[in-house]
Amino acid sequence: MQLLKKRILTDGKTISSEVLLVDSFLNHQVDPQLMREIGEEFARIFKDAKATRVATIESSGISPALMTAMKLGIPMVVMKKSTSTILSEELIQTPVHSYTKGTNYQLTTKRRFIDPGDRVLIIDDFLANGEAALGATRLVQRAGAQVAGIGIVIEKAFQPGRKRLIDAGFKPVSLAAIARMDQDEIEFEE
Ligand code: 5GP
Repeated sequence: MQLLKKRILTDGKTISSEVLLVDSFLNHQVDPQLMREIGEEFARIFKDAKATRVATIESSGISPALMTAMKLGIPMVVMKKSTSTILSEELIQTPVHSYTKGTNYQLTTKRRFIDPGDRVLIIDDFLANGEAALGATRLVQRAGAQVAGIGIVIEKAFQPGRKRLIDAGFKPVSLAAIARMDQDEIEFEE
């Protein structure tokens, strides 16, 4: 998505060769117009996926996921990052490791917001090691639902997330895939 790539080049900041800061339009301050364009692009890509719900991981996935759900005319479910395991019949949880933060959390959703038979389109802001996206697929499957697709705003293609998702049987689609980056340069995949 050219508009997104241009924005990453203009406003993205590499804080190392591994971590990209996009806090001026996606992670902290949010550009609603860009999010709308992103939602429209995901809705176009996944128009034949027969999704019945969009799911995302708090908090930075919410803006693109909401815009996608709005365009597709279906609800959006937020998977929360709880730090504790709360024993409740209503919840579905799976452990996820965050390499960026060096922490573990329980990815959590309420069972009643994903029905058996649902087709869930997972949308997230970044794909790095694939931990978050794989956790989201586990929750969907544990709810008895199917993964209708995985849409990622920014993929760091030099990290193993894509391969791990493909090995698990999924086909992630990203709007901007970064082949490599350093302090001075960000290079996208073709
Ligand atoms: P993964 O689970 O694929 O390793 O990482 C995905 C999650 O980590 C994303 O939801 C995002 O919140 C965070 N993340 C990973 N890499 C980056 C990065 O380079 N920049 C930012 N802002 N977040 C990242």
